Amino acid sequence: MTDPDVIVVGGGIGGLSAAYALARRGLAVRVLERAAAFGEVGAGIQLAPNCTRILDDYGLLDEAKALGVLPDAMIMRDAVDGTELTRLDLRDLERRYGFPYLVIHRSDLHAMLLRACERVGVDLRTSQHVTACANTADGASVTLADGRVEEARVVIAADGLHSVARKLIVDDEPVSSAYVAYRGTTPTASGRAADVDLSEVVVYVGPRCHFVHYGLRGGELLNQVAVFESPKARAGEEDWGTPDELDAAFAATCDFVRGGLPDMWRDRWWRMYDRDPIMTWVDGNIALLGDAAHPPLQYIAQGAIMAIEDGWVLGEQAARHLDGGGWPAVLAAYQAVRPEHCRRVVTTSRAWGELWHLDGLARRQRNVLLRERDTYDYAFVDWLYGPTALDPSDEPPMFTPIPLSSAPADALTGAGG
Ligand code: FAD
Repeated sequence: MTDPDVIVVGGGIGGLSAAYALARRGLAVRVLERAAAFGEVGAGIQLAPNCTRILDDYGLLDEAKALGVLPDAMIMRDAVDGTELTRLDLRDLERRYGFPYLVIHRSDLHAMLLRACERVGVDLRTSQHVTACANTADGASVTLADGRVEEARVVIAADGLHSVARKLIVDDEPVSSAYVAYRGTTPTASGRAADVDLSEVVVYVGPRCHFVHYGLRGGELLNQVAVFESPKARAGEEDWGTPDELDAAFAATCDFVRGGLPDMWRDRWWRMYDRDPIMTWVDGNIALLGDAAHPPLQYIAQGAIMAIEDGWVLGEQAARHLDGGGWPAVLAAYQAVRPEHCRRVVTTSRAWGELWHLDGLARRQRNVLLRERDTYDYAFVDWLYGPTALDPSDEPPMFTPIPLSSAPADALTGAGG
């Protein structure tokens, strides 16, 4: 069996999109996925213009549009009284950045990337549990749970929050936010979903909780996400975020928000962790990508997007540098441009969560400031939604935070859920 140029560990959204980005450049790419089948668990995902720009470059944007929904507006409301705080006009946003804001079912996005990988000949393997990665004399190797060793010129570790390869670079642990997400999708033909405006992505922000909804699959499904701080997590209990905490967490919210809670799946939930940013992602011929490198809290809805950007940047740098400096030059160029952007996203996501979940006077101050925001002021998102940088000098500057003393805010939009 011939060794591939690249082994990608993990076949999530990050791993598959990176595999596609490299294989379309003519490289032999093998994906090793631990699960018995490729797939994604969860519901909707939001893709901002910095991602749809890449899907367009891949020739996948029309397919993604056909699978998803192009909403007209993103609206933030107060979860307690239901009033509107601020909004983005997503049609105007598309004109500004050149590409749309799209919402799509995770499994549809993942399946689309899988099909794209198949078309360019990626070697896709399931039931492959990687237990270790190591540098070799002229490349890198992975060891599998059954003892086999596979080698390639480089290994891209896209193995998520609990990455095996990350341990080569840093001895850290996931950071618990004590928040947990419940999700649910319901057919729009029936019940409450029939009364919800699917042309909007809406986030209701409230004390220690928030609630998100938007349409999926051309409007066939309503996607709803309920996120709250778990009192049991704060008390140090092991068994936290359980369904008995869900209804109490939203007791003070408006009728519309509470009306969505019966639609949540109660047999699974997602505890929310991130990690402190790290500025080194490359160890010899092994590079981290996606959540393995920079797992964020989801408040600005950029986790999967960052993973897709990582893969696109790798593909572009391979096209620029492989014939000259080879893989060391490719990985050095990747390392030069991605960590700072992703550091900003991870820290901004934390700050944004604090802003969303304020209570008391700070909540009312936030609401006054958000209501004053001009719908067409994009200073807060230019650094996120503008073109993905290939050189550090391309990276758009971050905006000046709003003058809210009680909560740092690094962005004024995004409705992660
Ligand atoms: P993962 O999805 O974790 O994939 C890792 C893959 O590697 C998996 O398939 C796993 O099985 C495999 N694997 C793991 N270990 C091994 C191993 N040892 N050997 C082999 N295979 C292995 N992001 C957005 O951009 N927009 C959003 O709107 C958004 N909303 C979100 C809402 C919620 C509630 C949450 C929790 C997250 C949200 N995110 C969003 C973040 C996004 O889901 C993640 O950042 C993204 O899915 C990470 O993709 P990944 O491929 O890097 O990692």
